[in-house]
Amino acid sequence: MIVKEWCMYCGECAGVCPRNLIEVRELTLKFDEKECKDCKICIQVCPVQALEKEVI
Ligand code: SF4
Ligand code: SF4
Repeated sequence: MIVKEWCMYCGECAGVCPRNLIEVRELTLKFDEKECKDCKICIQVCPVQALEKEVI
């Protein structure tokens, strides 16, 4: 997951992940990518479009 520099660390994305994989702490976002089911709810809920799924 790519976090853009304009992320406000508001925690919205962390609050909606059904698997609780996002941790917002001290201006960092941590994703447990291994468990991510790619539902993209976190991307949709971000008020400033700061998340982007990395295409591998
Ligand atoms: S919802 Fe968007 S702005 Fe808020 S912490 Fe998540 S990525 Fe950052
Ligand atoms: S895509 Fe879905 S499962 Fe993955 S981190 Fe975002 S909300 Fe959680």
